[in-house]
Amino acid sequence: MWLVECPSFWDQGLIRPLVVEGGKVVLMCDSCAAVWHTPADIEEFEHVEPCEPDWSIGAGAHVRPGTVRWAEPEDVSSAGWGSLAWRELP
Ligand SMILES: [Zn+2]
Repeated sequence: MWLVECPSFWDQGLIRPLVVEGGKVVLMCDSCAAVWHTPADIEEFEHVEPCEPDWSIGAGAHVRPGTVRWAEPEDVSSAGWGSLAWRELP
């Protein structure tokens, strides 16, 4: 499932919900890997660019490879984002 296209004009990725270690749900572009903490942050272009070696996304959270997974509808509902206009992946 995905929410909107990546706002970066050079990128055509899709922003998808991601579950990080500890269960928090964030939003990540499946192309450039930018992360947004909330849907509102996307409109404000308030993104994080996690990178090696800590993969930090702030607030004590990280997206280190192997510790994250794409979210399922249940995860998105738990995060309180169930009513957003999620779309099916092609
Ligand atoms: Zn992107």
